[in-house]
Amino acid sequence: MTLPSTYADRNCSLARALEIVGERWTLLIIRDAFFGVRRFGDFATQLKIPRAVLTNRLKFLVQEGVLVREDDATRGVEYRLTAKGVGLWPIVRALMSWGDTFYSPAGVQRAERHDRDGGLLDHGGRCEDCGLVVPVPEIRIEPGPGFDPTSSAHDPVSNAINTPRRLLEPIEAGRTLPVDEG
Ligand SMILES: [Zn+2]
Repeated sequence: MTLPSTYADRNCSLARALEIVGERWTLLIIRDAFFGVRRFGDFATQLKIPRAVLTNRLKFLVQEGVLVREDDATRGVEYRLTAKGVGLWPIVRALMSWGDTFYSPAGVQRAERHDRDGGLLDHGGRCEDCGLVVPVPEIRIEPGPGFDPTSSAHDPVSNAINTPRRLLEPIEAGRTLPVDEG
């Protein structure tokens, strides 16, 4: 079941897509999921989003099949992007790139590289070294010249996000890993 449409044109796929990702916070939650955030508390810390709003957004994204909610005995509850959710990366990339162009005079805030060969990715996600359009799990994201560490938070989740890392790789910062006591 979907929310009632607030857009006039039901024959427009952009309007349909905006019903899923157009609400405030939603694309930021999705961006963080690409950066490896999986736990409710980590989304809340990183985004400083009201918890009730976060609960609603996560529930809706699970309902729409963008995220899957997994409840593991040792790891607790985690939210991960589905294939449908991973399909949103070109949109997140395009909006970040547009933001860099018009609002980041010092340059890109986050650069994308091909993890295997270190090649920079162009706006279409193509590696400048090997020429491949790089699949999401092979993309490494790292602070670019426009990134200002002094205006960034320094909690463990933010620190992990601001260190070069592959997309979708889970952030373990601050997590108490189960101890194998043999
Ligand atoms: Zn490459």
